[in-house]
Order: sequence, then C-alpha cells, then structure tokens
Amino acid sequence: MNICVYCSSSDGVAPVFFTAADTLGRLIAQRGDTLIYGGAGIGLMGALARAVKSGGGRVIGVMPQRLAAEPITFAEADEFVVTRDMRERKARMEELADAFLVLPGGFGTLEELTEILTLRQLREHTKPVVLLNIQGFYEPLIALFEHYYRGGFAKPWRDLYAVSEDVESALTYLDAYEPVLPPRKWIGLEEVLG
Ligand code: AMP
Repeated sequence: MNICVYCSSSDGVAPVFFTAADTLGRLIAQRGDTLIYGGAGIGLMGALARAVKSGGGRVIGVMPQRLAAEPITFAEADEFVVTRDMRERKARMEELADAFLVLPGGFGTLEELTEILTLRQLREHTKPVVLLNIQGFYEPLIALFEHYYRGGFAKPWRDLYAVSEDVESALTYLDAYEPVLPPRKWIGLEEVLG
C-alpha cells in the first residue's frame, strides 16, 4: 500500500510526537508499504522518513521546486517528485496514495487534511483518512468538526475520517477499510438529490 502521511515540519514539538512518527515509519517499512510524503528531512517529516529508511522501506518525497532548492530535503528518499508549486504537490501526493494518515502538524498539515476531506465529501475519492490523535492532539479540531455538524455546516457522516489514538490502530483501520461512497454533501436537498 502507498501510505501518504501528513505531519509537522517543525523540530520544536514534544518528543512524544517524534516517537509516534518513528513508530509509524518503522511499521510502514515492516509491512512493506511505501511512504508518500512532503520530502523534507526536518521535524516529524524527517523522523518518519528516516525510520522508514532505517527499517529498509521505500520513501517517495513530493516537493515543490522552490522548497526542493532549500537545504531541508531528505536526501535518502528512493524517489523525488518535484512539482511546480505546493498545490501541484498536494495533487501528486493524492494521486500516488492509497490511504492518508495525519500525524500532528501545523498549518501545512491542516491544509492537507482539509483538502483531502473536502475532496472525499465531494466523492472525488474514496480513500481512507485517519487522524492520529496522539496524546489528544486533535481533540480541539475534532470538537470544531462536531461544531460544524451541530450547526448543519457539514453532514455528520462518521466515515469521512477515522480517529485513532495510536499508530498501530490506525494501520489496523487501513487494513480493514472498505471503500464507501459518502452521502451527497449538500444538506437540505436530499429530496431533490435522491
Ligand atoms: P506544517 O504542518 O505547517 O509543518 O507543514 C507540514 C506539511 O506541509 C507536511 O505534511 C508537508 O507535506 C507540507 N510541507 C511543509 N513543509 C514542507 C517542506 N519543506 N517541503 C515539502 N512539504 C512541506
């Protein structure tokens, strides 16, 4: 399986998140899966990619031209896909991936997550998306999503994404996942849409 992981590029986050990135990388390698990710050697991104490589696994980095010129790339990637810009990078990552795991991250990670959820709710793909809620990191975001459901801003369709408390259960979820088409996104038009 090609597993796309979105995660922090920061080196300033707590050790528990580095441990999770490392565990995920090792398991990806052990399972014979391929890591698709943003291609950087810094932060959780770097920890994850190094763990995949040290476990003998395969890494594909997808990076925009401008960032690929910076000294932050992960040199040991098996393949490097250089894109025109950040938008094209997300599209390439999406095409290459069979599944999406979201470790803790900042704005870049949030943007990647919300884009993949937006495409999912519009039925543009049926691939699994899992939030890795390491040490409750995603509780505030999950609460915001619940606020959307309560307010009618999104359909409370619980299969849009899964939440896992640890890396192992996220991978178990991926293995059991059966693609399913979401209900039509628009609320209040059910009778028209059928
Ligand atoms: P952030 O959460 O703001 O640290 O951004 C991390 C996410 O954005 C990662 O999942 C990457 O795919 C993308 N990203 C951030 N920095 C880079 C970078 N230097 N090169 C490629 N992608 C990056």
